[in-house]
Amino acid sequence: MGESYIPLSDLRRSLRPLSVADATPLVQGPLADRLGRPLRDLRISVTDRCNFRCSYCMPKEVFDKSHVFLPHSALLSFEEITRTARAFVALGVRKLRLTGGEPLLRKNLERLIEMLASLRTPEGQPLDITLTTNGSLLARKAQALKDAGLQRVTVSLDALDDAVFRRMNDVDFPVAEVLHGIEAAQAVGLAPIKVNMVVKRGTNDHELLPMARHFRGSGIVLRFIEYMDVGATNGWRMDEVLPSARLIELLQRDHALEALDPAAEGETAERWRYVDGGGEIGLISSVTQAFCRDCNRARLSTEGRLFLCLFASNGHDLRAMVRGAASDEQIAAAIAGIWRQRADRYSELRSAVDANAAQGERRVEMHYIGG
Ligand code: SAM
Repeated sequence: MGESYIPLSDLRRSLRPLSVADATPLVQGPLADRLGRPLRDLRISVTDRCNFRCSYCMPKEVFDKSHVFLPHSALLSFEEITRTARAFVALGVRKLRLTGGEPLLRKNLERLIEMLASLRTPEGQPLDITLTTNGSLLARKAQALKDAGLQRVTVSLDALDDAVFRRMNDVDFPVAEVLHGIEAAQAVGLAPIKVNMVVKRGTNDHELLPMARHFRGSGIVLRFIEYMDVGATNGWRMDEVLPSARLIELLQRDHALEALDPAAEGETAERWRYVDGGGEIGLISSVTQAFCRDCNRARLSTEGRLFLCLFASNGHDLRAMVRGAASDEQIAAAIAGIWRQRADRYSELRSAVDANAAQGERRVEMHYIGG
């Protein structure tokens, strides 16, 4: 294993434990961090395992047979996730996204969705619950997920060409099965469906137009994600990023597009629509046009660490509180205290310095805290 490959176990040991004593009283009024950002969106990673080995996320050479995944006892149970989520909801969270690893690998995930769907905001409203998946098990699970209370899904799909797709997932998984999963999700009414395509220059940028043409007019929103320097294992290089500005130029040559206003505050994707009514696309430009200023997201790792940024190297141990003697109020107060201290804006700072130079810092892996 080379210098740039930081074993996840090292990071796990370096995480800060939290105690009940850290729980400062909840402030009255709206919760905001040091940059004035509210807490609205919680991403919950339900497993650190994945059945794909996409080189930009869980490269095979690093996450091979000798890699030690978390033992089941380390994972937050469904009850623990629900209790923690309830504390986040009390503080302003309105959207929950289940992710991973591959979330559909977690056994009986429908049960967790049922439990989360029963939560209510302080105003008595249900939450917006969604899930990000690689789609490999979606055809089998779509109906059960819908029945459990899942409203919509985001499916990751990097190419339509079968050979390119199999190479990118690096486990020879056929694209037809993911497309079948998307159809199944559509058929059961998991809507609106979003499809996320990570664009890596020289690897799948020639798939841009085939993907755009395939999803145009389908009601599915295709979103193009700039290849990001998350984690420490993917050997990221700036020259493999296709800037969104260039990407939109290429798409415009095929079909006229116009920019739309954001639908919600803190939205990650810049929205565009086909002028002739063929639907919408999204651009997620976290490398070339950082959107930290609007970030209202927190991330709960598989083993109950709270991460404030996708690019963080440290998390806060909520599991110790959840498994210890802390009351719900103390857990909420601890989360509020952490959020109030938040001042990170990694992507903006990375844009300001040499992006390649920012590599090599210790950062948590994406499959551990979810995308
Ligand atoms: N397994 C699920 C999936 O495939 O959607 C959920 C977890 S995955 C980590 C979440 C998203 O992160 C996927 O859309 C994936 O393509 C994206 N992702 C992972 N590594 C990335 C990177 N280096 N740059 C941009 N997106 C990345």
